[in-house]
Amino acid sequence: MGQELFSPLLGIAAMTGTILGFLIGWVVRRSRHAEEKQEFERLMRSYQELSQDSITLQEELTRKREIASRIPMIVSSLSGRMPINAIPPIAVRFMKEFFHASQVGFFAQAKGEKSFTLIEGVGFPADWKGKIRLDPEAGILGMALHNNIVATRDDYLAVRGQFPAGIHSLEKNGVSADLVAPVSMDLSIVGALVVGSSTVRISEETPLASMIADLIGNAFQHATTIESVEQKASIDPLTKIFTRGHFIHLFEAEIRRARNYSHPLSLLLLDIDHFKKVNDTYGHPVGDIILTSLGEILPKDIRRSDFAARYGGEEFTVVMRPASKEQANTLANNLRQTVESTEFRIPGQENPLRVTISGGLATFPEDGTSTTELIQSADEALYEAKQTGRNRIVRAHQIGLDGSPVR
Ligand code: GH3
Ligand code: MG
Ligand code: MG
Repeated sequence: MGQELFSPLLGIAAMTGTILGFLIGWVVRRSRHAEEKQEFERLMRSYQELSQDSITLQEELTRKREIASRIPMIVSSLSGRMPINAIPPIAVRFMKEFFHASQVGFFAQAKGEKSFTLIEGVGFPADWKGKIRLDPEAGILGMALHNNIVATRDDYLAVRGQFPAGIHSLEKNGVSADLVAPVSMDLSIVGALVVGSSTVRISEETPLASMIADLIGNAFQHATTIESVEQKASIDPLTKIFTRGHFIHLFEAEIRRARNYSHPLSLLLLDIDHFKKVNDTYGHPVGDIILTSLGEILPKDIRRSDFAARYGGEEFTVVMRPASKEQANTLANNLRQTVESTEFRIPGQENPLRVTISGGLATFPEDGTSTTELIQSADEALYEAKQTGRNRIVRAHQIGLDGSPVR
């Protein structure tokens, strides 16, 4: 009986042991499996993150390469010689290309105003150019201009309370700028580049925007310096009319135009009569006052299409375009009479001074077809005016077939 009872119990115990062993094994295996699964998932996540990072890095690398390859081109195009108004279109093109943006504009102060307007742009309404008025202290534009730093949309959102977007802001005019880069020359701001709808992560590219804005600022500086040097070289400091060098340059262009369009063109060479006597009697500074006054009288007395220059000393030229010899003769005599009737007031001198002028007139093409020929013909006519009594205009003799004047 004891034996009988013991045997099934032993069987049950053995079976329970087996099941328990299996269960324990199963639980252990299962928990190991769960850990492995977790580990696997963790590895998968890091792998995915790593591949995403690698794609991002790859993209960044491609973009950096793209930027690096374009920098020499932007530097060379902006360091060349160009007129000031050629710079904004170049600036807009570069920003558009660099930032893959569909909206780029160069804004600068409207003439004689504090507010900014669109000078050049793409992706802005057609009627904005020169017409829109933006408050330089409002919105993201205000922030960039006020601090003279590149401002991104995120930068602006952080401090927008300081630069509320009033009605004359980019924001209130429907432009949500990604970035605004001020362009400075010396210490003053000449404009701002506004970039919108960019497809790159522009917030990370402020150094690039800043570099382009600096290069554009330098280009403005360069062009302004050249223009002012050229302006100085083309304007005579005493009479404030064109210099001889600039006159030759303009006269050559006028001759080309006269030839192309078969327009008559006349050259008047003027010389003050007995000017040495004025200097000798009243002194050189008084002579200078007369020359300065003639620099004011000549441009006022000629037609808008004509121009006057100081040829040298007390000699002047007037280019009349277009003007036949007859028309030119009338205009030249009017000028001569104006000078003859002008009273030159001299400080400290009770009585005003009067001077007369003599002139030689040469007309394209009959008196010459080049600057040299026409100046020579006018000079010979002037010489004749002096020889025949002064205070008169003499017309050049016709040029012979061999190019020399016939008497
Ligand atoms: P003519 O009627 O024959 O022209 O007599 P002129 O005395 O004017 O003779 P000329 O043309 O030879 O003399 C020009 C004078 O103009 C000589 C010079 O002292 C004077 N002159 C030239 N440039 C200047 C200048 O910049 N300022 C002053 N005050 N005088 C000048
Ligand atoms: Mg002279
Ligand atoms: Mg003279």
